[in-house]
Amino acid sequence: MRILVVEDDVDLNRQLCEALVDAGYVVDKAFDGEEGHFLGDTEPYDAVILDIGLPVKDGISVLEEWRRDQRKMPVLILTARDRWTDKVQGIDAGADDYVAKPFHMEEVLARIRALVRRSAGLASSEIEIGPVRLDTAGSKVTVDGMAVKLTSHEYRLLSYMMHHHEKVISRTELTEHLYDQDFDRDSNTIEVFVGRLRKKLPNDFIQTVRGLGYKVSAT
Ligand code: CA
Repeated sequence: MRILVVEDDVDLNRQLCEALVDAGYVVDKAFDGEEGHFLGDTEPYDAVILDIGLPVKDGISVLEEWRRDQRKMPVLILTARDRWTDKVQGIDAGADDYVAKPFHMEEVLARIRALVRRSAGLASSEIEIGPVRLDTAGSKVTVDGMAVKLTSHEYRLLSYMMHHHEKVISRTELTEHLYDQDFDRDSNTIEVFVGRLRKKLPNDFIQTVRGLGYKVSAT
């Protein structure tokens, strides 16, 4: 899952990025509204954390422009505690949720998990497909109730596929959502990771759809 963080406070931006990376997300960052707007407009993100008070272009304008251009990714806005008007404006501009500063990092992570889940049409923090169960809150995977040990790469890959199960996912889509913008994108890398992941999962859990990509399915 790939997240964009737009926050001009350098320390806070770094703390958010570190916490997200630790939680298994791939993160791109921007420090002003124009840079943030550009990334959100051109790159596919599974969620965005957007500060309202930003230099060059404020967060409300950034969000309004994305929504006007049909950019539909979930957006969590960061607001100043004493400015309730930010929340109202933000939600009217198309924010999906907000957190007031100062916040606990755990709260931001929980809200991001919920936004990613909801945008995939899932109601619970656990995704169960056939014998495979993915616990998005604890980053754990079980097959028939038995814990499966995955590397962070493998977990990210499986998590993305299970959030989008029953849908054919191309290698390009996986690459775009599993690596940040600086990654050397080679679709063979994805094949290698899928191959390793398959060995830890039931046969045919990850199906290859010839010429199109992969699909995770219960049958
Ligand atoms: Ca700010």
